[in-house]
Parts: sequence; C-alpha cells; structure tokens
Amino acid sequence: MLRLQGVNIIVGIIILFMGLHFAFAPEHHDVRTTGTTMLGGIAFLLMTISVILTTRLNVFESLFGGLDRMYQVHRVAGTSVALFALMHFIGVPKELPAGVDPSLNPLAPSAPLGMASLALLVIGLFIALNRKISYSRWRLPHKAMAGVYMLVIGHFMTAPAVFFERFSTSGIMLVIAAIIGVIALFYTMLGMNKRTATPFTIEAVNALERATEIVLKPKGDMITFNPGQFAFLEIQGKEWSEAHPFTISSAPDENRLRFTIKVLGDWTRKIREELKPGGDVIVRGPYGRFNTDKLNGKKQVWIAGGIGVTPFLSMVRAMKAGDERDIQFVYASRNREEALFLDELQSRTKNLGNISVNPLFSDQGAFARVDVAKEKLSAPLTEYEYFICGPKPMLDSLIRDLKKEGVPRAKIHTEAFEFR
Ligand SMILES: Cc1cc2nc3c(=O)[nH]c(=O)nc-3n(C[C@H](O)[C@H](O)[C@H](O)COP(=O)(O)OP(=O)(O)OC[C@H]3O[C@@H](n4cnc5c(N)ncnc54)[C@H](O)[C@@H]3O)c2cc1C
Repeated sequence: MLRLQGVNIIVGIIILFMGLHFAFAPEHHDVRTTGTTMLGGIAFLLMTISVILTTRLNVFESLFGGLDRMYQVHRVAGTSVALFALMHFIGVPKELPAGVDPSLNPLAPSAPLGMASLALLVIGLFIALNRKISYSRWRLPHKAMAGVYMLVIGHFMTAPAVFFERFSTSGIMLVIAAIIGVIALFYTMLGMNKRTATPFTIEAVNALERATEIVLKPKGDMITFNPGQFAFLEIQGKEWSEAHPFTISSAPDENRLRFTIKVLGDWTRKIREELKPGGDVIVRGPYGRFNTDKLNGKKQVWIAGGIGVTPFLSMVRAMKAGDERDIQFVYASRNREEALFLDELQSRTKNLGNISVNPLFSDQGAFARVDVAKEKLSAPLTEYEYFICGPKPMLDSLIRDLKKEGVPRAKIHTEAFEFR
C-alpha cells in the first residue's frame, strides 16, 4: 500500500514553497507575477520530485511503501507538472511591466526555453500515459524527459528578475532543488540507481502452462530478500534488451532464485521459447515492501489472481511450523491447468495448520469475491489484513468491495505488477 509519509513530505515541500513565495515576494512583483511564478515553481518542484524518485533509493522505498508505489507517485507528480506548467504559461505576464528598462528582452532566452519545455512536456505526458505504446518504445522518449528538465532549469535561471527573482527566498529554494535534481538525474542516467548487480547462471528453464519457471544459481554470494520482494532480471546477451521486473518465487533460504514468468508479450514469450540453461543473468534488487511477516500473529486473507501467485509462492515456501499467522489463501485462476504450483501449495500447507488454500477456477464460475468471503470467513471481514496480488481490475474491484464492507484501506495491501 502507498505509505503516506512520502506523500506528506511532498505536500509539505509544496506548502513551504508557496508560503515562502508569497511571504518574501520581491516588492516590484505584482500579484499576478507572484501567483503565476508560484505555479511555475510548483511545476518545477514536482518535476524535481519525479526525478529524485527515479534514483530508487532504499530510503524512498520505505517512505512510499515500495518501488512500485514510488513509480505511481512519480507518474502522478509528472502528470501534475504539465498541468501546473500550463497554468503558469497561460497566466504569466507576456509583456514587461511599465517603467522597466525596455532594452531588457523578456523573450530571450527564457521564454523560448519555457515554451519548448512546455510543448515537450505535453508530448512526453501523452506518450507516458498512452498504454497502447509498448514499454520498449515508451522507454526512450520517457528518458528524454531528462533533457526537458534541463530546459526548465534554463528557463527560470535566465528569466528577467521582473518575472522571477532567483535570489528571493523561494527562488533560492528552487535553485537548491535544481542542484539536487541534476545530481539525481546524473545518478540515474549513469546507472547508479541500479541496486547491486548479482551474477547468476541459469540452472533450469521449466515450461509451465502459459508460463515459464527459471531457476538461477548464484555465481558468488546469494542475495538476501524477504518473501514478496521482486528483482530486475538482465539476461546477458544482445538479443535480450532491457531489464524486466519479476517477483522472486523461491524462499530466501533456498540458495537458488526461482522466477515464475507468465507469457504476456514479446520478451516473456522469448523466455518461453528461446531461453536455455547455462546462460548468465544479472539480478538487481531486491525491491518492494509486499510483506505479510510484519503483521505476524494477525488474521490474514491472501488473494492471488493468476500469476499474482508468485509472492505467495515465496511466502508459503518460506513458512515454517509454528507460524503465528492465521491465513486464508484464495488462489483464483482461469482453470485448474493455469493454477501454477497448486499441488505444491496444497501439500506444503497441509501440515502447517495455520493456512488453508482455497482454489477458485473462473471456468467453473468461481471468482474471488468479497460477498463470498464474507459468508465463508469465521470472523468479520474487518478483523483481517488483506494481501492481494493480481490483475488491476481484480485489485480495484476487491478494494472497492472491501471498503464498502468497512475494511479500512490501511488493512488492504496490494502488489501491482506494473509501474506505468
Ligand atoms: C513489481 C513487479 C513484479 C512482477 N512480478 C511478476 C511475476 O512474478 N511474474 C510475471 O509473470 N510477471 C511479473 N511482473 C510483470 C512483468 O514484469 C511483465 O509481464 C513483463 O515485463 C512483460 O514483458 P513483455 O515484454 O513480455 O510484455 P509487454 O507486452 O511488452 O509488456 C506488458 C506490460 O509489462 C510492463 N513491462 C514490460 N516491460 C517492462 C520492463 N522492462 N520493466 C517494467 N515493466 C515492464 C509494461 O507495463 C507493459 O504494459 C511483475 C511486474 C512488476 C512491476
């Protein structure tokens, strides 16, 4: 779940900027100039926050509740940038105020830089939000937003003081933000945001129903992770292109990493059809905060939809006798064949006593539904913590129905298998 700590910090920064901007506005600025430069300043701060979040630093994962949540905030902040920038552009005075030295040219170079950045921002936003554009096509123009960030810095650093005073209190705040933003940008662009690269060899590639399990053997030290975390896989070899994120489905003490990969697009199909044992893989991670252990002792409902079973696979594989959680595990899939590792899950949980696996097959008319859970669970719905991983429509409808039943959002923990 998105943790509010990080969001509160963002809101606090924006409010601080607004307060400083109005309280210490240069005397020669009229209200319109102060108001519209404030909108531009907010746009820049949000853009800087978006840039900072791409550093993937551990501290931000803790503040926002995981890398996938950070990317959600990155997306919302990025979308808001374009809106604030547009309002700034529409409202900001286009002429020099009366009495100002006419040799001062308000149009060069600040205004063209501002207009170019706005146009590129809007195009970038269109590409970023257009789900029809494939991830690999989307990545390059998205990275080009780094250039737009530099244009925006150029825009306000060259603005005539009658419009923007760099050495006013709020101006200094923007300059500091720019310095931090540029450092963050280089950190990300130089690949320093990729957590330790751990080398593995592909030990086995196992074909499953519309999916593939790959088993990786560490070449040196094994990575340490918690069940529910994910990592980026970089398969070595020119034909494998960019890194893809997958949840680790093995237990932390296995000395092997297992990933269960559903065929969804070109890259995952290639895994199914062409990947062979013996090759090298770099694993970067772990990331994520989808962790059921932290609520030890609590009643829990786990709901997996299809390939959303992977974090729970790791959790069950890691579970030991004497576990204090009381877990109802609902495993929804299209049919029996696609319920990957169901036999293993059932046999592992049989003797544990604290977890029961409830498979549901939609070809038999059984779906993960809150009204059915309400009838079957022994305690009221509000007494459970919910951990849900599956397709977005399933997550959305379960969250909505649980909330209708009075379950607080803080008790519903979800893992989204997408960053965009
Ligand atoms: C945190 C997380 C955990 C995941 N765990 C699993 C798992 O355990 N098992 C599993 O089968 N799938 C998992 N996925 C989904 C998996 O990453 C995508 O299905 C896979 O990358 C699709 O690649 P493709 O090129 O075959 O498909 P495409 O059709 O190209 O992509 C399908 C969708 O996957 C996303 N995607 C594609 N490429 C990337 C990339 N390089 N980086 C980030 N997202 C990308 C995009 O949102 C895209 O819309 C996870 C995703 C995330 C974000």
